[in-house]
Amino acid sequence: MRSGIIEENDPHSPGDPLLKMNPLLAIFATQFLLLPADLHVEEVLLEKNRLMLVLSSTQLTAACPYCSSLSAHVHSHYTRTLVDLPWKARAVVLRVQVRRFFCPPAACAHRTFAEQFPALAPVFARRTSRQLQRLCQIALALGGRPAARLLSQQAMPTSFSTVLRLLRHSSVPSFPSPRVLGIDDFGAEKRRPLRHYTGGFGAPPSY
Ligand SMILES: [Zn+2]
Repeated sequence: MRSGIIEENDPHSPGDPLLKMNPLLAIFATQFLLLPADLHVEEVLLEKNRLMLVLSSTQLTAACPYCSSLSAHVHSHYTRTLVDLPWKARAVVLRVQVRRFFCPPAACAHRTFAEQFPALAPVFARRTSRQLQRLCQIALALGGRPAARLLSQQAMPTSFSTVLRLLRHSSVPSFPSPRVLGIDDFGAEKRRPLRHYTGGFGAPPSY
């Protein structure tokens, strides 16, 4: 019996039958990678620089995002690819088997809908929520090109333009409005460069 973990040189091809994992190994992979509980690990592909997991939903039904009706009548399947946070130095790719359901009410304007995974990734996103959060944190801390360089070094290759797009769409951290202003905040010494001085009372240090 073959293990569910496929090593790098395993002659696996898309035409091969799906390799089912040992149930205990699947639970371990789910817990180890902190995946949502309603996802089941079907297959693990271990490559030199990449770890790929094939996932499927354990839910019997799904709710239509347009009319909220539950449906268990599957229309078709497709695979959605998501990039997750890296594991060690390896990039992690999730291939999620998505079901498309028929929507039962005739009044719904959409005859079919695809199941969503809100705990894993936003709708239409190609990255998991936690990877998007990490990218935004690094982009806000370092800025465009330095963030892109660091992300590439951390097995999360991201282009400069993508970093800029994330910055444009991310919310800037909010800070509470100051209740007390120091004299330096009014620029009392306009002939000298305005610097923040936190050394207490007395003459500010010379820069
Ligand atoms: Zn519907």
